Amino acid sequence: MKEFGKRIWRRLLSHTKLYKLLWYFLPNGVYVFNYHRIGSKEECIYDRTIFSCDANTFDQHIKTIKSHFTIISCQQLAQLLATQELSFQQRYAVITFDDGYQDNYTMAFPVLKKHQVPAIFFLPVNFIGSDYIPWWDQMAHLLRQHSGQVIHFPGNHGEQWLDPAELEQSIHRYIHKAKRLPNLSTREVLQYLQKNYPLPAAALHTETSIFMDWQQAKDMLQHGMEMGSHTIHHPILSEVDENTQRYEITESKKQLEQLFEQEVIALAYPTGRKKCYNALSVQLAQEAGYQLAFSNEPGINRKADFPRFEIHRFSVSHHDIKASIFC
Ligand SMILES: [Zn+2]
Repeated sequence: MKEFGKRIWRRLLSHTKLYKLLWYFLPNGVYVFNYHRIGSKEECIYDRTIFSCDANTFDQHIKTIKSHFTIISCQQLAQLLATQELSFQQRYAVITFDDGYQDNYTMAFPVLKKHQVPAIFFLPVNFIGSDYIPWWDQMAHLLRQHSGQVIHFPGNHGEQWLDPAELEQSIHRYIHKAKRLPNLSTREVLQYLQKNYPLPAAALHTETSIFMDWQQAKDMLQHGMEMGSHTIHHPILSEVDENTQRYEITESKKQLEQLFEQEVIALAYPTGRKKCYNALSVQLAQEAGYQLAFSNEPGINRKADFPRFEIHRFSVSHHDIKASIFC
């Protein structure tokens, strides 16, 4: 029903002039637009659902955001909050990227540079400059090789038919559920899949280095971009013990600061939905000395309750950026 309502709403907006006017009625506040991957998802053998858009669309998004918001960096946001100079008589935008994929450098960075717009890139330290393939990318790659089959979840958690007619949605549904299985980590689900549904030999050769390297990150820093922490290993923080959370949050800040020789002021919780981090994560982020921390819960950040350590972000996954806010 909820999906049905959203569909009607989207259709109504796109068929009326209302859609264009909506920009002018947006409330004041800080809007954070979060991207993951930029590029052509059809060419990707891994998780295609985390592509936000292609490079041309990203260029359009930046033009649109520029014309309706004052774009600020994280450093500026932190300063405006510290000095209480953030004006809630206007609309600000902050642009963020999670995970440090190489296309952030090859596809997004040239667009940002062209428009002279700052963005912050949240890096999982161990992914950068490595040939690591994260669990969600491995899972999508493996599942795509089993199109048409019924794939079980470990334990008594049911199954998912990988419908060839809508394969990508079926893969997405499997991964979505895998993240939420009680008492089973995503790593355990991946291990179960690898054991029970092995990759055919022809699919074993995969592309390597899907993440940016340190030199690329430094190059972006020199051109006005910012780097933030996305922990060391990208764990779902609410699933790990206190010592691990502390290590992931504190050590990543320390290592990034040593590498970049400058302060790292912001953290993005991995995955970032409400159940993926907890009160301890927020407390540890404050203790570690971050000035800002970002969730992936959608919403406008407004003055009365500015959530400095749980800043809302709109996840961009639509061709039309308005849909990220309104739908
Ligand atoms: Zn992430």
